Amino acid sequence: MTPPIAVSPSLPLVDLGRQQASIEDAVLAKVRQVITGGRFVLGAEGKAFEQEFAAYLGVGHCIGVASGTDALALILRALGIGSGDEVITAASTFVATAEAIALVGARTALADVTADTDTIDVGQVERRITARTRAVIPVHLYGQPADMAPLLDLARRRGLAVVEDAAQAHGAVVCGQKAGTLGDAAAFSFYPAKNLGAYGDAGAVVTNDDRLAAAVRRLRNHGGLDKYAHELVGQNSRLDELQAGILRVKLPHLDAWNARRRRHARAYDRLLSAIPGVALPHAVSDRTHVYHLYVIRVDPARRDALRAHLWNRGVETGIHYPVPVHLTPAFTHLGHKRGEFPVAEALAGAVLSLPMFPELTEEEITYVAAEIDAFMNGKASGEAGG
Ligand SMILES: *Cc1c(COP(=O)(O)O)cnc(C)c1O
Repeated sequence: MTPPIAVSPSLPLVDLGRQQASIEDAVLAKVRQVITGGRFVLGAEGKAFEQEFAAYLGVGHCIGVASGTDALALILRALGIGSGDEVITAASTFVATAEAIALVGARTALADVTADTDTIDVGQVERRITARTRAVIPVHLYGQPADMAPLLDLARRRGLAVVEDAAQAHGAVVCGQKAGTLGDAAAFSFYPAKNLGAYGDAGAVVTNDDRLAAAVRRLRNHGGLDKYAHELVGQNSRLDELQAGILRVKLPHLDAWNARRRRHARAYDRLLSAIPGVALPHAVSDRTHVYHLYVIRVDPARRDALRAHLWNRGVETGIHYPVPVHLTPAFTHLGHKRGEFPVAEALAGAVLSLPMFPELTEEEITYVAAEIDAFMNGKASGEAGG
C-alpha cells in the first residue's frame, strides 16, 4: 500500500544511513579485514559472533544461519517436526513465522493475539492443541515479549516445544531473562532494519539444548560439520563472514540503541497520550519492550487518511501488518474465514507504525506528534478532513 502522493519523505520509518554514518569506519575496516582474509563462509568471524551473541543473551549456543525464516525452519527440522505435525503460532505476525511451519511440511495452526499485548493468547493456544500439535511459536511482536510464563507452563504440561520468534526482540527482557532464552530454542533475524541488523540477510538460532544445537549446526551446513561428512539431509543456510563481522561491530552498541528506542517511545507516549482517537502501543510493566516498531492504533475509518496526511507532511509510516495470516492468500488453504481471529483482524485495520530508530531526534518526534494532533483534531490545513 503506497500512500497516494509520491514525494519522498524527509523522515523515513527507519533511517539506516544515520546509523551507518556513526559506525562507518569500524564497518569498513571489518569488511576490508574479511575480504583480504579471503575466508567468506564458516570462518573466525562467524564463530566469534556466535560466541558473543550467545554471551550477550546468556544462552548456551548460537548458530549463525542465513535468515530469520531459515532459523525458524531449522529449529523445527531439528525438533523432527514435519508432515503430519501441527505447530501453533499467532495470527498477527510477519508471514515468515507461518511460512517456516509450512516450509517443513507441518500444518500452521493459528491462535489470536490478546488485545492488551498484541502477542499470542495463551488460552487460545490451549484450545487449539490437538493430538498432532508438537510445538508453539510465540512471537515477540514489535519488540514486546509474549506472555512467556503461562505459555511455558502450558507447554510443559502438554509436552509441546516452545520456539520463540525473537526476530523483533533483540535485547528484550521477560521473566528476568532475555527474550529468546526461555523456550527450547529461538530464532533471530538480522534483516537490516531489525534492532540488530546486518547489511544483507542473516539470522541465528539460539538454544540451551546441546542436542538441538548440534542438529541445527549440521542441518545448516549440508547435514554435516566437516566437508563431505553428510550425516543428514541438510541445507545451505550459513551466516557469511562479512555479515558476521558487521554484526560483531554492531552488537556492542545494541543496548545503547535499544535504550534510545525506549526513550523515543516515552517521548511519543507523552506527546500522543492527550490526542483523542490515538491508542498508544501496549507496554506491559513486567517486560522490557525494545520497540522494534512503535505502533499506534487509530479508528480504521481514518487510518489511511492519517497515513496520507503524514506522508504529505514528509513522514513515512508503516502498517505491521495489513493482513493477518489467516486472510493472507498464501494461507487460504488453512480454510479460515474473516471473523475467526477478531483481535488480529482489528489490529490489521487500526495499526500505524511511526518512525522509530535510535538516531531519531526529539524535534522529529515532536513534529510527527504535532502532525498527528493536527489531523486528528481537524486542525490540518488544506485537506478535506480525515
Ligand atoms: C523479520 C521477521 C522474520 C523473518 O526474518 P528474515 O530474516 O527476514 O527471514 C520472522 N518473524 C518475524 C516476526 C520477523 O519480524
